Amino acid sequence: MLIKKSRDMGFCFGVRRAVDMMKEAAIDGRKVQTLGQVVHNPQVVAELEEIGISVKQDRAADGATTDTVAITAHGVGESTVNDIKGQGFNVIDTTCQFVARSQRAAKHLADKGFTIIIFGDPEHPEVKGVLGWCKGRGIVVKDESLEGLPEYIPSKIGVISQTTHTPERYADFVSNLMRARIDQITEIRIVNVLCNATTSQQAATRELAEEVDLMIVVGGYNSANTQHLADLSAVNGVDTHHVERADELQVEWFHGHDVVGVTAGASTPDSSIDAVVLRIEAIDKELAALTA
Ligand code: SF4
Repeated sequence: MLIKKSRDMGFCFGVRRAVDMMKEAAIDGRKVQTLGQVVHNPQVVAELEEIGISVKQDRAADGATTDTVAITAHGVGESTVNDIKGQGFNVIDTTCQFVARSQRAAKHLADKGFTIIIFGDPEHPEVKGVLGWCKGRGIVVKDESLEGLPEYIPSKIGVISQTTHTPERYADFVSNLMRARIDQITEIRIVNVLCNATTSQQAATRELAEEVDLMIVVGGYNSANTQHLADLSAVNGVDTHHVERADELQVEWFHGHDVVGVTAGASTPDSSIDAVVLRIEAIDKELAALTA
């Protein structure tokens, strides 16, 4: 069995920076609560817990038990930033620069009187955070079908996407919006806040999907960008399995496959990827022994 690794996978710039900032705080002897998970990966969260970086799941400063709180790479809304400052917490802000750009765009559009349509998962922290910069003028729409978009929308519309969506999906979303609502819109501003890191990983996964007959996608089940990679691979007709840990790999998945691809989301640490590759090599040996 040939194992091919994606040319671009694992920790993106924003996640690596956030994790490094947390580790530096721990080295300085600071106890920190992060407002939500620093990254959507349970192994990384557990590793940080061990060095004194705990998670406050509700993403609110209220009730934090440490002097220092950290804003995660996904960012938070304007009211949460004000709460943190108002309550006198020390803050470590790890908001990724791509997410910060999205927040600035939302605020700018809201200030100019636009209603902002955010193409994203309403439950995702990044989307909730960006919505919190729209000054009450934001509408989140989950997918290209435009389900959930009110029957009548204001005439000045700004459009922003969750940073981890694919360019194709964002283009389809905007195109569907224009077709369905051109009669209601007098002005539209489309802001491209898609993240280079994830689009590059998506392109690499698409290329790899052309070369393999089985794909293993490594990353947290709650990681949106990892899930997108799994979807991309499956859409290309490749037998695809998404795992968080190496011990989830099942031998029967590998029967009859000669070329296995490995890719991983932007929140997946190198250690998880290496463990998966090692486990695939071990499975290969097991299968070879059975047929020998
Ligand atoms: S995936 Fe992109 S937007 Fe998200 S943290 Fe990484 S670099 Fe930033």
